[in-house]
Amino acid sequence: MPRSYVHEARKRVGPKRARIRPIIERLERAHPDATIALRSESPLQLLVAVMLSAQTTDVNVNRVTPALFAKYKRPEDYLAVPREELERDIYATGFFRQKARSLRGTMKMLVEEFDGEVPRSIDELVRLPGVARKTANVVAAELGNPQGIVVDTHVRRLSQRLGLTRQEDPVKIERDLIKLVPREDWGRFPHLLIWHGRRVCIARRPLCEVCVINDLCPASRV
Ligand code: SF4
Repeated sequence: MPRSYVHEARKRVGPKRARIRPIIERLERAHPDATIALRSESPLQLLVAVMLSAQTTDVNVNRVTPALFAKYKRPEDYLAVPREELERDIYATGFFRQKARSLRGTMKMLVEEFDGEVPRSIDELVRLPGVARKTANVVAAELGNPQGIVVDTHVRRLSQRLGLTRQEDPVKIERDLIKLVPREDWGRFPHLLIWHGRRVCIARRPLCEVCVINDLCPASRV
């Protein structure tokens, strides 16, 4: 897109600080069901589901976890079986060897250092083997203590299209969003962008004509 056109488009929609509130409010109305797609019923199940979701779809993880959670109820249960057995039980989520290693390392640390409980802070969560910042962010936010903003492929694409960031790197995008999005919305905001990205602002063919924020978006095609 030529620079002058981008500049014109940004001018047309106004500064991002003035747009962020209406963007959030309209997306909330458009996607009242926007929540995490991974199914879990406890902090431990949530942590496991998020760890398994790396490099695969949430649908795939949701197919595997009912049987997994019925069999492995406590951190100790993941350590009580041979590693190969756990690998078989999570095989369908892909990268099963690496994920089994991470799960066992995490469960060991939960037992030894956290009394078998899932910690709530990002600093503690990222100490768990195989738990990267993105996983920690998702878990902390779902447990009611968001300390950052999760940036996945949808959040990245929509933040750029909406002119909320000019960055490419997820860490830098998160930094921009943290400055812009009100703290009480840190947990919900990524879900709104993710669901809007799946349903409307699709990567290859954004449906700008039916988008509820097209007048607030410098990338709008209408
Ligand atoms: S107007 Fe188009 S590009 Fe902008 S958020 Fe909506 S669908 Fe995406």
